[in-house]
Amino acid sequence: MSTTKQDIRALTKEQLRAFFVKEGDKAFRGNQVYEWLWQKSAHSFEEMTNISKETRQMLEANFVINHIQVDTMQRSSDGTIKNAVRLHDDLIVESVLIPTATRTTACVSSQVGCSLDCRFCATARLKRMRNLNPDEIYDQVVAIDNESRLYHNRPLSNIVFMGMGEPLMNYKNVLEAIDKITSPEGLAMSPKRIVVSTSGVPKMIKKMADDNVKFKLAVSLHSAIDEVRTSIMPFNATFPLASLREALEYWYTKTKNRITYEYVVWKGINDQRKDVDALVKFCKFAPSKVNLIEYNPIDDGEFQQAKSEAIDMYQNVLEANNITVTIRRSRGKDIDAACGQLANKS
Ligand code: SAH
Repeated sequence: MSTTKQDIRALTKEQLRAFFVKEGDKAFRGNQVYEWLWQKSAHSFEEMTNISKETRQMLEANFVINHIQVDTMQRSSDGTIKNAVRLHDDLIVESVLIPTATRTTACVSSQVGCSLDCRFCATARLKRMRNLNPDEIYDQVVAIDNESRLYHNRPLSNIVFMGMGEPLMNYKNVLEAIDKITSPEGLAMSPKRIVVSTSGVPKMIKKMADDNVKFKLAVSLHSAIDEVRTSIMPFNATFPLASLREALEYWYTKTKNRITYEYVVWKGINDQRKDVDALVKFCKFAPSKVNLIEYNPIDDGEFQQAKSEAIDMYQNVLEANNITVTIRRSRGKDIDAACGQLANKS
């Protein structure tokens, strides 16, 4: 159902306070409504029980709350949960809850589809439809937090922007969502528990550094050799490794925050010694660590996970060069919830 009423969560607290003053009410009413909208994550004006009925009706006449709906929820045998989330305009994005012994991580989407064209990623096959609004990102986190409490008896502990979309191509809204997530007036989570993962948009990495953000940065590198990277991530032709490297050095100089490189090793693509050597060299430019991710096959057989010998070689060579390396096993594969598998199959 389309509507011309304004999304009330597009207003700042100050704008909401000003609205009530204009309506002849107290500015404080704005604070109360703001608290319902964010901290209490109200889906409707009726829920706002400390607001008079007339005021609620007046809000109803002027605004909508474009709350997301969890359309379907799938649970994996390993405890991973995937939500298909319906937006107010009926588009769908996915978000994932990943439980481990010590933490529960929400993997959230920042765009509907993606404009990048990584050849190994299922989301890339959906064209980018639109950016998510800050409230739509925030709602995904709230939904996962509720599920974490319900199914795992603990609140959400971490958030990764590794769902659908390229967060740095929706930077303003991602930043606003993180502001709300970390604010005491929102979820009060520590920014140190949030990772923004990017394919590497140099200009935006510099902007993040200038904005003095407190969350962590991960870069989907996958190859430190331009020809190889361009062949699997074609946008690398526009943002080659030299410009990425320069932006990352800038990031580290300004933030002193170590960078994580996400890296999948594929058979016949980046499984040779020269590939590891290039990665080692790239890692020397700014303090960093490498996260070797297991490949999650998407339908065709073009990409295949490298043999374990190749992964061992990466680990050995990186460690011999004093670079921290972690190996990340996939979660939720049986429900297509693993990295790169989010494509609204349902
Ligand atoms: N656009 C952002 C965030 C989304 S992708 C980015 O590129 O970082 C999240 C991570 O999943 C990235 O590291 C991406 O390279 C990786 N990925 C994509 N497809 C994958 C697949 N099929 N198997 C394993 N990892 C994949």
